[in-house]
Amino acid sequence: MQKREQLYAGKAKSVYLTDDPDHLILHYRNDTSAFDGEKIEQLARKGEVNNRFSAFIMQKLEQAGVPTHHEGLLSAQESLVKKLDMFPVECVVRNIAAGSLCKRLGVEEGIDLEPPVFEFFLKNDALHDPMINEYHIRTFGWADDEAVAKMKELTFKVNDTLTRLFADAGLLLVDYKLEFGRFRGEILLGDEFTPDGCRLWDAETREKLDKDRFRQGLGGVVEAYEEVARRLGVDLS
Ligand code: ADP
Ligand code: UDP
Repeated sequence: MQKREQLYAGKAKSVYLTDDPDHLILHYRNDTSAFDGEKIEQLARKGEVNNRFSAFIMQKLEQAGVPTHHEGLLSAQESLVKKLDMFPVECVVRNIAAGSLCKRLGVEEGIDLEPPVFEFFLKNDALHDPMINEYHIRTFGWADDEAVAKMKELTFKVNDTLTRLFADAGLLLVDYKLEFGRFRGEILLGDEFTPDGCRLWDAETREKLDKDRFRQGLGGVVEAYEEVARRLGVDLS
């Protein structure tokens, strides 16, 4: 797959066009950002770990019946994906209270959320990704009702699959963010699933093994991602 010009440079990945208009190359960089890009650092090996991690999870999701953009690994830091027409929304499911939910609603971190909470956010850095609901999505035309229903259905299907996968590795899937897009009429899971975009705690000790280590300056960020990968059986070589 011939790599062509850069389409987009995000905060953690660069996106390249290919000679095939239906495909893109995602290049996972070592850049790690938090607080809308206010805190940025390069963390050695992170690009490679996340690339392999996301490929592993996308394959598990495909096997469970969640259609994804993932085609295959191209190199240590690059994957080939289907080029989606992305919806500008983020879908979040929370199984345990943490992060912005605690700040917004004053609830204690760590309480179980039963049933799990679903939230939409607008993907807009300049506006700090504000929380939105289905009425905003409909009125402003960010997605049609059918697409909204499909994104919710798939986001919960991901929850069923991954809570079990992580539980088997001694991990709690606290919350996560997904992005979807359209490819030839079908809604597919896009972007990534890595510890940059979810919260994972050790099931016994509740030690944080995700990007909160970076946000909260706890250190050992990539080491924690590697520990999660090792427990899942992700091939990092
Ligand atoms: P951000 O844009 O949030 O800073 P990244 O650094 O991860 O995030 O950049 C990756 C960009 O590529 C995101 O804007 C994401 O929505 C987009 N993207 C991910 N997968 C696809 C895909 N399959 N097709 C088109 N765009 C995609
Ligand atoms: N998340 C993300 N990108 C965003 C916002 C959130 O990947 O732009 C993830 C985040 O890592 C967490 C979940 O979505 O796993 C919920 O995030 P939250 O709303 O608590 O925001 P935070 O306090 O993490 O910014």
